[in-house]
Amino acid sequence: MNVLVINCGSSSLKYQLIESASEAVLAKGLCERIGIDGRLVYQKAGLDKEITEAAMPTHKEAIQMVLDALHNPESGAVADLSEIGAVGHRVVHGGEKFSGSVVLTDEVLKEIEACNDLAPLHNPANLIGIRACRELMPGVPMVGVFDTAFHQTMPKKAYLYGLPYEYYEKYKVRRYGFHGTSHSFVSKRLIQFLNLDASASKVIVAHLGNGASISAVLNGECVDTSMGLTPLEGLVMGTRSGDIDPAIMEFIAKKENLDITGVMNVLNKKSGVEGLSGVSSDFRDLEKAYNEGNERAVYACEVFAYRVAKYIGSYVAAMNGVDAIAFTAGIGENTSFIREKILAYLGYLGITMDEEANQVRGEEKVISTPDSRVTVCVIPTNEELAICRETVALV
Ligand code: ADP
Repeated sequence: MNVLVINCGSSSLKYQLIESASEAVLAKGLCERIGIDGRLVYQKAGLDKEITEAAMPTHKEAIQMVLDALHNPESGAVADLSEIGAVGHRVVHGGEKFSGSVVLTDEVLKEIEACNDLAPLHNPANLIGIRACRELMPGVPMVGVFDTAFHQTMPKKAYLYGLPYEYYEKYKVRRYGFHGTSHSFVSKRLIQFLNLDASASKVIVAHLGNGASISAVLNGECVDTSMGLTPLEGLVMGTRSGDIDPAIMEFIAKKENLDITGVMNVLNKKSGVEGLSGVSSDFRDLEKAYNEGNERAVYACEVFAYRVAKYIGSYVAAMNGVDAIAFTAGIGENTSFIREKILAYLGYLGITMDEEANQVRGEEKVISTPDSRVTVCVIPTNEELAICRETVALV
């Protein structure tokens, strides 16, 4: 079956058409600047990228353009749209309602909408994409795959904040975690790759991308993760602060004359390694500056790696041990000097890194030595493929 995977943001939309039996990507691309002007990038497997500038006032026009590109006579991936058997949608927040993927019905859409205030930037955009798709592809089954679902197995002691309990009861203020599709995909693949017994396994997944999070996966189930009510908590990220003393918010608000929205903007968009370094949020730029001896870039990388190492330590405590650790996402898969810095803190776990193996980029590999007491791997993530698999399983 051909599955169209859609990841819809407020002004952009990424898509892939995947043939589920072979798991081959038939075509992929994105729509950008939706509601502004509009730009479609389309690439059929084996061919060059095609870029089309065209008006996309709403997501409906954007999705229509994707469908037109997918079956255009010259470079289309299918001869007819009826060859698309199902659509899998990424949905950011499923609250406590969704602990797994779900076939999208009118009822389910209402329930997703009820989670909107937990992810006001993301869920409404996801819903717009789903509704536009349902309108343009009537009768085609659609599935929602949630970023939060994999983490719903966390025990209460891991997801409750030290806040008045009534906030949890009234508003569902608790830790949810994100990147769940990636943590699920990578933890399962790690267990398979290393031939571990899934029912007796302790693994840690470090998803280090622009957004970054870590999870502790015990016997195949998530027991803790570093992101919280929102994706701001946890690691130091590209532009997000991660964990800070909450009192800093009032302090900075007074000093800089900012309101709460202004402070949140700083924590989400002006902090992290970009805010620290003043160089970039991109680790390719940071690595260059680091190698040139730029002092602030050096601190930024040190702070980033130190925070990851501290989280790994805390998850070893949470699971009373660890069998294997996986690095994934843009930084985790490609940036060997950051992996090296993180692993340098973990000698107490009996971890030794294989320097040559650690030079790997973007492919599955064990990067610890054979005598390392914990096996460390690079496992590339593939959220689109994970969404495709979930979709096929449900339709
Ligand atoms: P997101 O999906 O959250 O935008 P990614 O997983 O794409 O993030 O990760 C982006 C980060 O990965 C950037 O900091 C970038 O520098 C880093 N990255 C991606 N590819 C490479 C590469 N080939 N070499 C070094 N760093 C890379």
